[in-house]
Amino acid sequence: MNEKVLKQVVVPGEEIGVIEEFLPGEGTYVDGGSVRSAMLGTAVLDLNERRVRVRSLIKRGPLAIERGDIVLGEVVGIRKDVAVVLIRKVEDKELVLSKPLHGMLHISQVSDKFVEFLSDVIRVTDILRAKVINSRPPYQLSIKERGLGVVTAFCSNCQSLMTIRNRKLYCPRCRVQEERKLSAKYSTNLKL
Ligand SMILES: [Zn+2]
Repeated sequence: MNEKVLKQVVVPGEEIGVIEEFLPGEGTYVDGGSVRSAMLGTAVLDLNERRVRVRSLIKRGPLAIERGDIVLGEVVGIRKDVAVVLIRKVEDKELVLSKPLHGMLHISQVSDKFVEFLSDVIRVTDILRAKVINSRPPYQLSIKERGLGVVTAFCSNCQSLMTIRNRKLYCPRCRVQEERKLSAKYSTNLKL
């Protein structure tokens, strides 16, 4: 393609030229007699067509989450056999998720044993350490392995942070135990 860079960096709304000079292409729009950029990018002119387009500068880098990644996320909803998890962190990656991503945890991925109800093993507001088992959104999660599962839990009754006592979740305030599929990495001072 016979192209020429007109402007290395243009911002949304910036005038690239006037319509007498060239035709508006991808990533541009016409406002009055001006051709303006619709995005942050590089303005490129196709010399054959006299058409200008803007190539986005925001690169779609490697996907934030890959199959096999271990993530930390909060259970935000449970619908029958599926829990919705808000993924907040990817372990071992210098990765800050600008927006939390959604993951799904199906009841078949919580244990090797039979589980009748998801709410027997996880609850809304629990923080999970989970493995990503597919490679594109919506991300499917698994907590079957020993290190995976609930890493932080809050009492269903009073919302207090629960501790571990005799290998069970215990609310120091209500003095009751609760059941979960616990991770071996359960922590009472987890930072997300
Ligand atoms: Zn409690």
